[in-house]
Amino acid sequence: MNVTVFGAGYAGVTLAQRLESSLDSDIDLVVIDKSDTHLLKHEIHRVIRRPQVADIIEVPLSDLFDRATVRTAHIHDIDIETQTARLNTGTTHQYDYAGICLGSVTADYDIPGVAEYGLPLNTTADALTIRTALFEAAGVTTTDDSSTDLSEQRQGPTPDVQIHSDQHDSISAENRGSVDIVVGGAGLSGIQVAGELAALTRETGIQADITLVEQQPTVASNFPENFQHAVRDALNNNGVSISTATTIERAREDAVETNTGTFAADVFVWTGGIRGTDAMDKSRPMVKSDLRAGTRTFIVGDAGRGIDADGEPIPASAAAALREARTVADNISQLVAYDTNGADGFEPRLEPYRFEVPGWIVTVGDDTIAQLGPEVLTGSAATAMKASVGAGHLSSVGALSQAAELVDAEIRSST
Ligand SMILES: Cc1cc2nc3c(=O)[nH]c(=O)nc-3n(C[C@H](O)[C@H](O)[C@H](O)COP(=O)(O)OP(=O)(O)OC[C@H]3O[C@@H](n4cnc5c(N)ncnc54)[C@H](O)[C@@H]3O)c2cc1C
Repeated sequence: MNVTVFGAGYAGVTLAQRLESSLDSDIDLVVIDKSDTHLLKHEIHRVIRRPQVADIIEVPLSDLFDRATVRTAHIHDIDIETQTARLNTGTTHQYDYAGICLGSVTADYDIPGVAEYGLPLNTTADALTIRTALFEAAGVTTTDDSSTDLSEQRQGPTPDVQIHSDQHDSISAENRGSVDIVVGGAGLSGIQVAGELAALTRETGIQADITLVEQQPTVASNFPENFQHAVRDALNNNGVSISTATTIERAREDAVETNTGTFAADVFVWTGGIRGTDAMDKSRPMVKSDLRAGTRTFIVGDAGRGIDADGEPIPASAAAALREARTVADNISQLVAYDTNGADGFEPRLEPYRFEVPGWIVTVGDDTIAQLGPEVLTGSAATAMKASVGAGHLSSVGALSQAAELVDAEIRSST
């Protein structure tokens, strides 16, 4: 019997590691991902300001599993009826049970110009592209391959401006005036991207006007009101202008047109929504509360959309992906045990997923806002919590040294 986990993000790694413990050793367990690393996607905005964080938040898959077979391949599509996946290696892969954990990518909703001019943020490479776009717009001279320390970028032509700071000493910039930056979408990604850009421009002395544009009447619209207020305060404190109830209608090379007017945009970052991956035909299928999409196929994390056991929509988040994976590991294990015991009697009753998280934490540059139950925390307590969440995940999957490095990077960043 073959159990396959498609995708090795939060959902996939958690699911596969749980199945390693719960399935009998004679069951084949296979993990397939196009990348050979596990990415802490909820930290990628940090890479815009600190390229070196990229090395901390990517963990080789070969370090994470005891007995699962890891295959590096791009999945073209998965047919749930025939339980078959087509891979870019020219082969097909057949499974008995599977968890589809392929995540999501940025959706442009066919808004004219967004796909062309909007910079997405799905990978560390995207974060470096945003960084480079800012430096180019500011006239910063760099031989930057962006994985190197900025001090290596000092050999450019004679600069008009010398910028000094603790983290970015001697970046060379032409004096081109202020850079206009628009970030579209004020969900978890957009808020944190705007915050990193604000901190980066402050640290490097680049003059910039940063506007966070949101269609909803408030930032962080899916979150409690006290959290929204705290996030808004932090954005204001970091010099980010907020334009809510503003719908982006078109993007051009140098501007973003909205229902309330046009914003100049030398750099336009688009974080306005997500869609399913191409392997899922760009969709995020609805799953039942037990997270099943077919008799033997489950969809876990961002790859699917679900209503939980209490009838609440499950938010696309790392927090939900990790917890869904635990439920699905139990459900697959029950079904496999039932099958291997001769499928006698009734099929086991599967666990419904109940969405329960202790709270939410976002960063706005060096500020952290944590919502814990009804309380909102800021300051060093929130920063410590933030560091422990990312590091907690890394240590729970077994990447202990990277966990320690992440705590160090988070704490150092805020002091
Ligand atoms: C900037 C930013 C900040 C965020 N902040 C937060 C936060 O503070 N809190 C929070 O809870 N969430 C946050 N999120 C959201 C969170 O990162 C996602 O919800 C989470 O990554 C979903 O986990 P997943 O396992 O479903 O998918 P992913 O983590 O995206 O994993 C999907 C995996 O599938 C693989 N894959 C995809 N397509 C293919 C294919 N065709 N073939 C083979 N492999 C494939 C990918 O390589 C990847 O390994 C943030 C997201 C961003 C972008």
